[in-house]
Amino acid sequence: MESVNPTEIISCPNARCGQQLRVPAGEVLMVTCPSCEASFTHRPHTQGKRLSQEFRTKSWTLGELMIAISRESMTLLKRQVPQALGTMERKQEWEGFIEFLKVLFNMVDRVATLYVPVSEYLQFLDAVEGAVIDQMNNAFRKQAGKHGIRLDLKSQLLYDDRHVFVNGTAVPWPQRSRETLRRLADHRALSPDAAARVSTAAAAILYNWYRDGYVHTGIA
Ligand SMILES: [Zn+2]
Repeated sequence: MESVNPTEIISCPNARCGQQLRVPAGEVLMVTCPSCEASFTHRPHTQGKRLSQEFRTKSWTLGELMIAISRESMTLLKRQVPQALGTMERKQEWEGFIEFLKVLFNMVDRVATLYVPVSEYLQFLDAVEGAVIDQMNNAFRKQAGKHGIRLDLKSQLLYDDRHVFVNGTAVPWPQRSRETLRRLADHRALSPDAAARVSTAAAAILYNWYRDGYVHTGIA
């Protein structure tokens, strides 16, 4: 007999935490660890494609490192070319950062062939990519929750029943958080409290807009 709501136990991927968490089985979930507050995407295992906890934790740690090194590299680059400071737009800065991440990912790919069993290799690379995305999302949410969000002066945020439009590009309304995004459109800003409460789907949209320079963290 199958139970109505099967659950499974998973471990927080943060190597400094490792908290055991009970989650609904068989669903893709955004899980926030109550101990260390790391949010991560949990993907249920498909048959024969299990990534061991050891490599799951390692993928998270590698993700942390890749982000830290890419940030550091951007800082060094700007220090080497001081005149670029201040003239670099967020989008260019973002692209530079992504280039560094790509180089590191390339290296991880090669090194992983030496250290990760063939049976877990592809899942491991997916997990590293997922860990990088989750952790950048976490960092953005933390910042937005602390300082709030405002629209760029040149940004136009409009909506109808089915879509929100940022500078003419339509995005379907995310599940939940409709109220929050509407408030951003109407008031051109979100308080830290409101920004901290947006759904994962809305946070992902806001994060894209942030990278494109359409929104900023901090309320003027
Ligand atoms: Zn944790």
